[in-house]
Amino acid sequence: MLKVLLDMVKNAKHRKLDLNNNSTTVMKKLLIANRGEIACRIIDTAREMGIRTVAVYSEADRTSLHVDLADEAVFIGASPVRESYLDIEKIINAAKETGADAIHPGYGFLSENAEFCRSCADNQILFVGPSADAISSMGSKSAAKKIMEKAGVPLVPGYHNEDQSPATLRKHSDETGYPVLLKASAGGGGKGMRIVWNADEFDESLDSAKREAMASFGDDKMLVEKYLTQPRHVEIQIFCDKQGDGVYLFERDCSVQRRHQKVIEESPAPGMTHELRSAMGKAALQAAEAINYEGAGTVEFLLDKDGSFYFMEMNTRLQVEHPVTEMVTNQDLVEWQLKVACGEPLPLAQNQLKLSGHAFEARIYAEDPENDFLPASGIISYLKTPAISRHVRVDTGVRQGDEVSVYYDPMIAKLIVWDESREKALMRLSSALREFQVAGMKTNTIFLYSLANNQTFRDGDFDTSFIAKHQKELFRKAELDTSIHLPLIALYLILHQEKSASQSAASSLEPNSPWNYSNAWRLNETLAQEFKLEIQQKEYTAEVEQRKRREQLIYKISFNGVVAEAFGELDGELLRANLNGHQHRVYVSGDENSYSLFVDDLHVDFKVSQPDLGLDEEAALGHGLAAPMNGTVVALLVGPGEKVKKDDALLVMEAMKMEHTIRAPCDGKVLEFFYQAKDLIDGGSEILSFEEN
Ligand code: ADP
Repeated sequence: MLKVLLDMVKNAKHRKLDLNNNSTTVMKKLLIANRGEIACRIIDTAREMGIRTVAVYSEADRTSLHVDLADEAVFIGASPVRESYLDIEKIINAAKETGADAIHPGYGFLSENAEFCRSCADNQILFVGPSADAISSMGSKSAAKKIMEKAGVPLVPGYHNEDQSPATLRKHSDETGYPVLLKASAGGGGKGMRIVWNADEFDESLDSAKREAMASFGDDKMLVEKYLTQPRHVEIQIFCDKQGDGVYLFERDCSVQRRHQKVIEESPAPGMTHELRSAMGKAALQAAEAINYEGAGTVEFLLDKDGSFYFMEMNTRLQVEHPVTEMVTNQDLVEWQLKVACGEPLPLAQNQLKLSGHAFEARIYAEDPENDFLPASGIISYLKTPAISRHVRVDTGVRQGDEVSVYYDPMIAKLIVWDESREKALMRLSSALREFQVAGMKTNTIFLYSLANNQTFRDGDFDTSFIAKHQKELFRKAELDTSIHLPLIALYLILHQEKSASQSAASSLEPNSPWNYSNAWRLNETLAQEFKLEIQQKEYTAEVEQRKRREQLIYKISFNGVVAEAFGELDGELLRANLNGHQHRVYVSGDENSYSLFVDDLHVDFKVSQPDLGLDEEAALGHGLAAPMNGTVVALLVGPGEKVKKDDALLVMEAMKMEHTIRAPCDGKVLEFFYQAKDLIDGGSEILSFEEN
C-alpha cells in the first residue's frame, strides 16, 4: 500500500489511476500540520471519513481545542512558529513517530512550502495538496505571471521580469501609467505593497516596499502592476484530480478588505453573470492546467468595472474562506481534498455542480478596528457563539477561557451563514453577529455588524476600497444609551447579587435556612442600594430601590435623575429584563468587577467600583433593621436585651465579598435576633427587633 502511495506522490500526475473507492482505506492516519480553527475543521472531516487524526502543538497550544479533538497529539516545540509549526523536521518526525501516512498542511504555515512537500514524499508520507513543482511555480508572483501569460490567462498590465534596477522599474511604471502598484514578488498577506499615485512618489514608495518585502520575506524582488482604482477581488475555487480532470466550484467575492486583507467573503459575487462566471472559471482551469495542478486551489482575479478580469495569483492550498463555497455547493472541500490526495477521481463533474443560494463568511478577529485594526491578544473571558443550524456555521479553534496569543494569527472564528438569497443571507449574518459575543479583548464584531448593515454593502455596490471609502459609517463606538444600558447594568448587578446569595442558600444544608421566609417583606417598604459604575472612562452612580409587588421584586433604578422601573430574571449570562414595560433580552458576562453588556449589536464594557452596599443604611434601619441585601450573617455583636447607644454595631453580615455592619439607629435595645451566625439572609428581611429608649 505504501508503495502505491509513493508512486502517487512522485509521478502520478495526469496518470490514470484506478483506485476507485479503495483509496479511502489508503489514508489511515492524517497528521494536521496546523493549529486553530483550520486544524479543528480538518479533524472533523477526517473523523467523519474514519481517518484517525494527529495534531501537533506548540507550547502556547498545550491545551488548545485542536489538541483535544485529535486522536493523538504531538508536542513540537516552543510557541514561536519557527520553532514549531514551521519546523519541517519536527513535523515530519511527528508523522513518522505516530505512523501517520498523510499530512494536511491547512493554510498558512507550511501549506505553500515546496520543500515541505518534497520532504513528505521523501519520507513516504502523502502530502494533501499539489506537487512541489506546482507550489514552486506559484510561489513567486512574477514567475506565476510568466506561466499564466504563456497559458493565455489575462494579466494586469505591468512588468514582472528579472531586471530589478530602479530605473527599469520606474520606466515600466511610467509606461504602465500611474497609479501603479509595486508588489513584492514573494508577497503574501498584503505585505510589501505600495500604491504609487504619480512619478514623484516612485522612489520613496519603491524603497519602502522593498524594505517591507525584505523584512517579511527575505526577498525584495518587485513587480509593477497597473493599479486598478475600483476593482473587485473575485477568486475561483478550482479542484483537480490525479487523473487530469479539473472543475471550478464557482467564485467568491473577497473585495471587502482592510490593509489588503479579507474581512468578509461571499459567494456568489454580487452581479455575477453566467457568461462572466464561465469565462473566469475557464481561465482559472487554464491556469491550473498550465502547472499540472492537483487538489484544491484558488485562482485570484481582479475584476474591473467593465467586466474585464486579470489574474493576480494562485493559492495552492485550501483558503480560509473555503466554507462559503461549501455552503453554496453543499460539498465538503476537505473531503474532496482527502479523496483526491488518495488518488480518487473528483467526486463531481462540472455539470453536476450546482450553485445554490448565497453564503457569507465574516472573520471574527481579536483586533481594534478603531486603532487601525491593531491585533489584540488576551484571555477570552466570555465566548458565546450563535446557535448552529443549516443556516449558520461557526468554525473556530478556541473556547471560553482560551488565550488568543501574540504568537499566532488573531482570528477567533469564522462565522458563515447561508440563505436562499443575498438579502436573506445578510439578515442572517447580521443577527448571527449580534449573537457572537466575545469578552476579554477588543474584537471586530461591532465593525462587522456595521459592515453587514451598511446600505451600500447591502446593495452589493462595493469594491476593494469599500472600507476606506465608508470609514465614517463603519467605525462607530459602542454608543452608550444611558436611559437603557445603565438601568440594564444596574438590574443585572442586583439580580446577580441575589442569585449568588440564593445559590449559596441552595447549597447550604442549614435546616433552618431563612431562605424560604417570605414574611420579611413588607408591602411598600423600600430598600436602597448604590452602584458606582465606570463605563468608557466615565463614572456613573446608579441608585436602586427595591420593593415587592405581589410576588415580584420590582426595582426603581435612578441615574442622574432618570428613573426606570425594572424587573427581570437572570439565566446564566442571559438577562431577560423588563424596563418600563419594554422587554429586553441581553447578555452580560464578567467576573469580579469587570463586565461586558451585549445588547443588540453593541458590546459595552463596564466596571463596578466598590459597591456601597450600606448606602441607605439609615433608611433601611429606620424601616425596622432589615437586611440591605442578600447575604450571610457573620456575627451577632450584642446579646438580646442588652442596652445599646445610637450607631453601636449590632450585627455583621457579608455580601459580595464585603462585610457590612448593621448599627443601632438610636439608643435602645435589641429584643430579639431572628438569625444566627452563618445564616443566610434574604435582602429586605427583618434581622432583629429593636426597641427605642
Ligand atoms: P497578497 O498576496 O499580499 O495578499 P495580492 O496580490 O493577493 O497580495 O493582493 C491583495 C489585494 O490587494 C487584492 O485582493 C486587491 O484588493 C489588492 N490589489 C492587488 N493588486 C492590485 C491591483 N493591481 N490594483 C488594485 N488593487 C490590487
